[in-house]
Amino acid sequence: MHTQLIAELPTPTDESRPFWEGCNQEQLLLQHCGSCRHVFYYARRLCPACGGCDLTWQACSGAGQVYSYSQVQVAFQGPHWQSQLPYTVVLIDLDAGPRMLSRWLGPDGQMPRVGQRAQVTFPLVEGQRLPFFRAEDEVGK
Ligand SMILES: [Zn+2]
Repeated sequence: MHTQLIAELPTPTDESRPFWEGCNQEQLLLQHCGSCRHVFYYARRLCPACGGCDLTWQACSGAGQVYSYSQVQVAFQGPHWQSQLPYTVVLIDLDAGPRMLSRWLGPDGQMPRVGQRAQVTFPLVEGQRLPFFRAEDEVGK
């Protein structure tokens, strides 16, 4: 099983609260612009493409592919991260459109490959589910 996960927990804002509540329902929600149809991540008050404010939240499949990754070997975010080392951060190109920075959960000990299919998973960390990623064929194991 994976190392006990810890993380800096989010502090939801008025803009991001639906996203984090969606995670707790194990749904990856993205904002959609009603004016220009742009789909984006992270949460914002205005569409980054057209400045429109007619925004709605819609669940996506949570599937995508690895764009890039990096293994973190130094706890430069503070000593409580020491137990997590090494861990892997990934950039995921979601099938729904946006590129998302997240954490790679494996399978344990395996680095991602660029282009590899990935699927969101929502481990529970201190009362908040967080949107991390695993290899697509590992989800549910
Ligand atoms: Zn727009």
